Amino acid sequence: MRLTIVGCSGSVPGPASASSSYLLEADDAAGRTWRLALDMGAGAMGALQRFCDPRDLDAVLISHLHPDHCADLAHLDTYLKYHPEGPFEPVPVYGPFGTSKRIQQMAGADDVTDKLPCTVWQASGETRIGPFLITVEAVRHPVPAYAMRIEGPSEHRARASAILTYTGDTDECDGLDVAAAGADVLLSEASFLTTDDAPAGIHLTGLAAGEVAERAQVGRLILTHIPPWADCPSIEAEAARGFSGDIALARPGMRVEA
Ligand SMILES: [Zn+2]
Ligand SMILES: [Zn+2]
Repeated sequence: MRLTIVGCSGSVPGPASASSSYLLEADDAAGRTWRLALDMGAGAMGALQRFCDPRDLDAVLISHLHPDHCADLAHLDTYLKYHPEGPFEPVPVYGPFGTSKRIQQMAGADDVTDKLPCTVWQASGETRIGPFLITVEAVRHPVPAYAMRIEGPSEHRARASAILTYTGDTDECDGLDVAAAGADVLLSEASFLTTDDAPAGIHLTGLAAGEVAERAQVGRLILTHIPPWADCPSIEAEAARGFSGDIALARPGMRVEA
């Protein structure tokens, strides 16, 4: 599997990055490349076009319905409907209950289900899309939110699989630990510092992201969803106190193989 960071700015878009969006690609046994977008936050539709044509997405997986994770679904709807070479084929969307209505509200459209048919996540349920097997776990955030555990073909080992876990937005919780267990790559939000005196039940601190990675014994930790106002180096340093393995900060255009 090949992960590309499309947007990684936390909570709001930043001067150098769109909000949360990640492109995950893998080839099936017949050599066909499958493409998933993990979240489609504010600004993601613009940045995504640097890496693929949005019409080529096989699905969009939405962690939760905060605008920094789903706002640009409205623009994907517009692209599929009104591109001069279109209209294009529908792109299936998977998300929490209410995803379809939220897109409809943002798009100001009567109906978006013709181009963006939505399937509601079932916690701990499995979804197969091409070579990807996706399991979502309910996590701890002020609105219904899911972490995604995605198994797909390894880029490094022939006929073997790899696991990438994306936390979405969450504080520490059992669902997050289940989703992260043994992942090759943990793409984890890290929005706060322990010194922020931040309220519980919303986001991970850098230290908590590191501790989740350590408990889960993941291969590599990629820190993301750091807000533009946050102290990036300090968040990374906190994570390194919690996790003894390899840590990197997400940046737009970064590619990670699993
Ligand atoms: Zn967020
Ligand atoms: Zn959120």
